[in-house]
Amino acid sequence: MLRERPDTASPLCGIPLALKDVLCVENVETTAGSNILTRFVPPYTGTAVRRLFDAGMVCVGKTNCDEFAMGSSNENSSFGAVGNPWDVERVPGGSSGGSAATVAAGSVPCSLGSDTGGSIRQPASLTGVVGFKPTYGRVSRYGLIAFASSLDQIGPFARTVDDAALVYAAMAGHDPLDSTSDPRPLGDPTSEIGGGVEGLRLGVPDEYFGEGIEPAVRVAVEDALRVLESQGTVLQRVSLPTTDAGLSVYYIIAPAECSSNLARFDGVRFGLRVERPSVTDMYLATREEGFGPEVKRRVMLGTYALSSGYYDAYYRKAQKVRTVIDSEFTRAFEQVDALVCPTSPTVAFPMGDRSDPISMYLSDVLTLPVNLAGLPGISVPCGFSDGLPIGLQVIAPRFEDSRVFRIARAYEQATDWHTAAPPLGAVA
Ligand code: GLN
Repeated sequence: MLRERPDTASPLCGIPLALKDVLCVENVETTAGSNILTRFVPPYTGTAVRRLFDAGMVCVGKTNCDEFAMGSSNENSSFGAVGNPWDVERVPGGSSGGSAATVAAGSVPCSLGSDTGGSIRQPASLTGVVGFKPTYGRVSRYGLIAFASSLDQIGPFARTVDDAALVYAAMAGHDPLDSTSDPRPLGDPTSEIGGGVEGLRLGVPDEYFGEGIEPAVRVAVEDALRVLESQGTVLQRVSLPTTDAGLSVYYIIAPAECSSNLARFDGVRFGLRVERPSVTDMYLATREEGFGPEVKRRVMLGTYALSSGYYDAYYRKAQKVRTVIDSEFTRAFEQVDALVCPTSPTVAFPMGDRSDPISMYLSDVLTLPVNLAGLPGISVPCGFSDGLPIGLQVIAPRFEDSRVFRIARAYEQATDWHTAAPPLGAVA
């Protein structure tokens, strides 16, 4: 998949890249981790990926993920689980588990994932790499298999903040093929990356350090805050009181959008078709066989939330609370330049450990409010607990993606967590 004439002046020229299998690449099977899309071969390459190919990056493979990006452990893939390179009995996080694990294992320097509620930042945290979710609208979703269109963003995984920023800079910017792509000029998101953090005000949200956060995660993140303070930032406690409701709001809005987006998979046009004498039976049999249990759960939840009689009680109400969450972030950003907190409440958990949906959904309580508000966020390695990585999350106002990089990089430069690598040969 080398371009005929890639940009040989780009620092990305010739660099290998792995792509989460929700990203369409022309003539390359793209499954979204789902049986229903086996043998689906897209006729085009999505914009973000196209731009990286134009810069000379070389796709060395597609990576496994939770089916249609629904999950936090990569256990929901139709094609099997992914091991965490730090302990293969544990999950790498999800839904972009394969993209995170392959960078953590040192197989590629960078990869792409998609983040709807945490699917880049959470697996980055659990595998000890950098994972960045851009401001909503900065990276084109054209060619990304949709999960929840008002939340989905494509972003990079890398070993360093610099590398993640370079990849982001090459793929971001307006695209007329995505109606939610933002037209304001991108500038150079890497230009201030080395500017340091002296004088920046960093907010520490009380609600992100509460119940359910593992003590080792709290300690590592508090240590990281002290490092940032020693670099000249001013730490300030802030409150985001509606954080609690984020999970409920997300699990109305994301399934509602997914039930609509996934309606197109019916055996007619894409991937799997289970032949039956009548067309209705063909639809039913294809969806019954093609979708896994978590996807079916979401489609049912979403269809219910959107059905007449329940729309106002669930969907409309969730949209109102989403607005409240958004305005709380806006208010916090009147006092501080960015927020710093843990990415994931826990380190990587053993495979099979979170079999009920709620305990799995709780994996993303600290990441999904950021998607609801469309903000940029990054996870950067900040320590270990019993040999398992911990991530620090940095969140900034919309369109301040470069500020996220600047803070994360200053922290990274002052520490050496990002240089740790799992033992060679850990991944079978
Ligand atoms: N884990 C969350 C979910 O299952 C987020 C997924 C994502 O960001 N794609 O919906």
